[in-house]
Amino acid sequence: MVPASCRILPAMAISLQFLGAAGGVTGSQFLLTVGDRRVLVDCGLFQGGMDEIARNRMAFSYDPDGVHAVLLTHAHNDHIGRLPALVRAGYAGPVFATDATTDLAQIVLLDSAKLQAHAAARWARHHPEAAQAGESEAAVNEIEMATIAERAERPPHLRTETHAPLFDEKDVRRTIGLVKPVAYSTVSPIVPGVEATFHDAGHILGSAIIELRARDPDGAEMTIVFSGDLGRPNTPILRDPTPLTTADVVVVESTYGDREHSPGSQAVDELMGVVNDVAKEGGVLLIPAFAIGRTQEVIWVLDDLVRRGRVPRLPLFVDSPMACEANDVYLRHPDAYDAETAALLASGDSTLVYPGQECTPSVAASKAIIGSPRP
Ligand SMILES: [Zn+2]
Repeated sequence: MVPASCRILPAMAISLQFLGAAGGVTGSQFLLTVGDRRVLVDCGLFQGGMDEIARNRMAFSYDPDGVHAVLLTHAHNDHIGRLPALVRAGYAGPVFATDATTDLAQIVLLDSAKLQAHAAARWARHHPEAAQAGESEAAVNEIEMATIAERAERPPHLRTETHAPLFDEKDVRRTIGLVKPVAYSTVSPIVPGVEATFHDAGHILGSAIIELRARDPDGAEMTIVFSGDLGRPNTPILRDPTPLTTADVVVVESTYGDREHSPGSQAVDELMGVVNDVAKEGGVLLIPAFAIGRTQEVIWVLDDLVRRGRVPRLPLFVDSPMACEANDVYLRHPDAYDAETAALLASGDSTLVYPGQECTPSVAASKAIIGSPRP
């Protein structure tokens, strides 16, 4: 169990606070204090049940204006989703991220702002009197007061009447405007006394393990590594996670750390079997997949199976505007590909695009799939 805050070494003026993704798997946020400098790693959205979602409404547990830099491991919402709210609350410092993370973050955060605006408008339509009375600005209340030890076991039980968006499109644009791009495997100065190196994490495009080198005012040094979310070795498209050999402290994600995964090749064999069954029966295969990362992997694998003649070429619809936008970002960053994907591209195979795949940018296009000709 992770304590909410810990001084890393008693003799050093370096401390680390766990402000999310502790006792849960969303809302990643770590505050590193080195002397009088404060550096935030990730600023993720809490997702899941009502208590988790309500946590996004709680005030930041530090002065947003008193943070000197933010670093992002990758562009999933549970790692970046509250950043525009932090900017709205007063943060105006630099945001360090890879180029690909910035491109994907823009898609994710603009989509989030749009969904929040729609949800708030819908709520106001259904509760005109409450909306008129300003009830949507009510604060978050903790129903059961919990001790720190209890909170370490489970999140507090919260209630909120708030329906206003956490942030809007303008906040997202301001957030993206704060980004300072970083390259992989390059030491970047962050604030006096802290430098960072971003390494491949192999999770989604642009994802990084962040290695921070901190030096306190007395000159004592330490290396702290934040794994971010880690990909599995040998997954398609991206380079494998970079092995790091030295660190004083490692903060590692452990979402699936308690189970043994079956080998990736087994999953490909299962997918191949299902596609062949569906083709034989004249059916339709629905593959629910996260829009960023998993969708591109599935497309890569299906394209590979078709190219090798292991499955027939069925029509493929990518039925998600966000996944389609993410596909385009993946195509724009060949510098992040692993050797296999780079070699396929060099040989003329557009391996990130399934032959004849169609994207649905609108609800109408999505509905039209049902009338598409069958093979
Ligand atoms: Zn992730």
